[in-house]
Amino acid sequence: MNLLLFTQADKTAENLLQLTGQRCEHLHKVLRAKVGDTLRIGEVNGLMGTGEILSIEPGAAVLQIELQDTPPPKLPVTLVVALPRPKMLRRILRTSAEMGVAHLHLINSYRVEKSYWQTPVLAKDSIRGYLLQGLEQARDTVLPEIHIHTRFKPFAEDELPALSEDRQAFLAHPGDYPPFTGSLTDESVLVIGPEGGFIPYEVEKLEHAGCAPISLGPRILRVENAVTSLLGKFF
Ligand code: SAH
Repeated sequence: MNLLLFTQADKTAENLLQLTGQRCEHLHKVLRAKVGDTLRIGEVNGLMGTGEILSIEPGAAVLQIELQDTPPPKLPVTLVVALPRPKMLRRILRTSAEMGVAHLHLINSYRVEKSYWQTPVLAKDSIRGYLLQGLEQARDTVLPEIHIHTRFKPFAEDELPALSEDRQAFLAHPGDYPPFTGSLTDESVLVIGPEGGFIPYEVEKLEHAGCAPISLGPRILRVENAVTSLLGKFF
């Protein structure tokens, strides 16, 4: 954990935090924090700074905090990913937060297994938990916004054209497509398919919505690696 995140609910006074539960245990057992130690801290969706431990016991720790730093800027990207299996979804949530994705859209596609939509990973609190892990890793406080679309066609026909209006939009699709060269500084949209790939009908719809197909090379990458590779190539 490179940053300890807290919310208003942890505050007992303007500059005092009381941490209990898992975070206190982490301070105690993993970081072996002692009275007087200073940690990097951040308020979820707020500023970052330092926290000095005033007291620490197995069940509760009290920190005096000072917040002055703004979190790092987000990447100017809207990432669209066909819903992967739960294990991969967890990684993609963490990675998106870690890499600085501002908006993540999880969409349905023909090759997304129906059961994936039932996973508890998609519960609001669960999503938030994985995003917080990514933010703690990266030293950021701002939660990416997650948008869920359980139907492909309305998303591709009605929502994607609006998302990609006035900005560059790309669809990563294995095949004989040009590679992406250069780098992006303006707001853009990147679309990544399911583990089985998009079907031709979907590729057509996505192209129609303004997404230019691009290749990441002759190797077929796992969804999670395609996400990091794309973000690395683009920014
Ligand atoms: N089984 C599919 C591959 C799916 S890989 C097939 O053979 O077509 C999962 C997703 O990762 C793809 O939909 C695409 O968005 C992205 N991806 C993986 N490797 C890629 C590559 N070499 N070029 C472009 N996109 C790639």
